Amino acid sequence: MSEQIREACGVFGVYAPGQPVSNLAYLGLYALQHRGQESAGIAVSDGDTITAVKDMGLVSQVFDERSLASLDGHLAIGHVRYSTTGSSTWRNAQPVYRSVGDVGFALGHNGNLVNATALSADLGMLPGVLTSDSELIGEMLARHYGPEPRSDGRDLEHALLQVLPVLEGAFSLVLMDEAHLFGVRDRHGIRPLVLGRTEGGWVLASETSALDIVGAHFVRDVDPGELVAIDANGVRSIRYAEPDPRLCIFEFVYIARPDTILYGQSVHAARQRMGEELARQAPAPADMVMPVPESGVPAAQGFARASGIPYGDGFVKNRYVGRTFIQPSQRERGSGVRVKLNPIRANIKGKRLAVVDDSIVRGTTTRQIMAVLREAGAAEVHLRVSSPPYRWPCFYGLDTGRRSELLAADMSVGEIAEYLQVDSLAYLELDRLVAATGVTSEAFCDACFTGEYPVPVPDHDTKLALEPAEEPRLPGTVELA
Ligand code: SF4
Repeated sequence: MSEQIREACGVFGVYAPGQPVSNLAYLGLYALQHRGQESAGIAVSDGDTITAVKDMGLVSQVFDERSLASLDGHLAIGHVRYSTTGSSTWRNAQPVYRSVGDVGFALGHNGNLVNATALSADLGMLPGVLTSDSELIGEMLARHYGPEPRSDGRDLEHALLQVLPVLEGAFSLVLMDEAHLFGVRDRHGIRPLVLGRTEGGWVLASETSALDIVGAHFVRDVDPGELVAIDANGVRSIRYAEPDPRLCIFEFVYIARPDTILYGQSVHAARQRMGEELARQAPAPADMVMPVPESGVPAAQGFARASGIPYGDGFVKNRYVGRTFIQPSQRERGSGVRVKLNPIRANIKGKRLAVVDDSIVRGTTTRQIMAVLREAGAAEVHLRVSSPPYRWPCFYGLDTGRRSELLAADMSVGEIAEYLQVDSLAYLELDRLVAATGVTSEAFCDACFTGEYPVPVPDHDTKLALEPAEEPRLPGTVELA
């Protein structure tokens, strides 16, 4: 995907007495940085006190040796955020910390609740008092603590078992009190969460790639509808809801790192198979197969392998471009995409290109990229997309904007090809995408392609409407991945 999509968040948790848990959390968050770049935070417990550090910015900007040294303890949770609910402010950075009497807890949330408004009203909270789903969950949990601490110390676990069954939507949570670490997935397991084993302890993480970086090995997925409790006695599993697995298929397409394992399958290999399927479904009369870097690379490799057309690079990607930058002035118009992707003219000129990307959501950047290829002398441009048309907004933690902002919401493939000014365009069919994941049971959410939402979404939500967006993007700013 060439444009910036506001991704899901990333969560990490570690229980490892005797180990530098804040450093492990820092490394884990580093591996999950692709899931959220707005804020980062870590909370640590030394058994008596929970200390949290969080701020706006990348993991490397929020933490340094001094701040990590101040986070001493034996269990920690961490979070990287891209705001999907609530605004992008320090207050909404996570982990969220709550004190209840003399004790406290902290939580990090990946996903999006669909019944937050109703739950907030049930609490008697005025609109705007709770500014994120995570604050709401924190408030609900705090209200389920008893007036006195429980003799078994399981106050947070007890509160979770009251609160989790009434939450609807997507939530992969890491939580902690002074002595326990918890991992939770909603009953559909829409966002991933895995359990790993490390020296002297246990790790929870959004993706297996975060286990690798801290030297932990994968044990298993946290199951949909499962609460995992980790403390000095080891790991306990509690099923709080009937599982109905619906992992976000877009994790396979775009969100997860390619070196992550989902449902036991390599994401990188799955993306290559998507490219192979695409080549079989929609061959292109091309001299060279090239990716839209970087997320289109594995699918382009697969497309080249299955089609027999040579693979080549058509762009150099500037690895140092930040997420946003100031839009060039009128005189420099057109150079915006080139700041990020510059064409390799010698590879492009006079060639018929099969250009492979993993997805198109809004399409504005894709249109510019196709124009750059034309200007660089491409004879023909055949765009191949290794997922189906993205037609419906996500309500489960991926901020793709309103329906009216989605390129494919109300356009045919032919109309999209015309808009993008390509010689041909094809999207991978959904059944081929599912086959390429290598997952035998079709245990996926695919609502952004089909409109069939596994958890009912508010039908009055403006996100579903097709009228033009009321809030145009800020002039002068373009978002880059
Ligand atoms: S709607 Fe799409 S992006 Fe959102 S959870 Fe479902 S598959 Fe994933």
